[in-house]
Amino acid sequence: MLAHTKRCALVETARSLNRTGLNQGTSGNVSLRVGDGFFITPSALAYDRYRPADIVELDMAGRVVGGTRKPSSEWRLHRDIYAHRHQAGAVLHVHPPWCTTLACLERSIPPYHYMVAIGGGDSIACAPYALFGSAELSTNVLAALGNDRCACLLAHHGMVCFSSDLKSVVALALEVENLARVYVQALQAGEVPLLTQSEMDQVRQQFVAYRNVAQGK
Ligand code: 13P
Ligand code: ZN
Repeated sequence: MLAHTKRCALVETARSLNRTGLNQGTSGNVSLRVGDGFFITPSALAYDRYRPADIVELDMAGRVVGGTRKPSSEWRLHRDIYAHRHQAGAVLHVHPPWCTTLACLERSIPPYHYMVAIGGGDSIACAPYALFGSAELSTNVLAALGNDRCACLLAHHGMVCFSSDLKSVVALALEVENLARVYVQALQAGEVPLLTQSEMDQVRQQFVAYRNVAQGK
């Protein structure tokens, strides 16, 4: 993909977040790994105003190497995920209502539904609160993601997830938001029974076969 095509893809992805309800206003940010760095959305600009030239290119030291806008205040969070998780090709941070409801209660999403395994673990953890844009927030998120997970909630803030590309990271965010919504709904009826560790292990094994079918293997 040429640099311009990648900038356009980021603009299109960012705009789609408003339509899907994952985001609103200037909240959230999205990035795409490119070579030895990444492209990221600009700070404090409403998504419907984005133009390809507004996308900022950063190197892994966080230096701006392309674009004139200020990069997202969460550039460090994106950079640290790319640095620590080689599978990450795209990172998405949003404030969707159901994930944020749980995040404001400082609650993780436990294994109440088999699809929770889509986050790579037995739960989707809630990273402790830290100021937006801070190195502390990034440290808390990396700890919540560990070595295997690809999504977590951010206490009193929102959620972040990563995947191989822009399309799949948006699909993952929608799935996590749906899991958060159904969990909050289930909580209204009282205690929610959970799947066991071995049941979740089975789900992960089954996911491998399921993905192979989806990829035509
Ligand atoms: P930016 O507009 O700087 O990307 O910040 C939005 C946000 O969600 C901060 O956590
Ligand atoms: Zn945010």
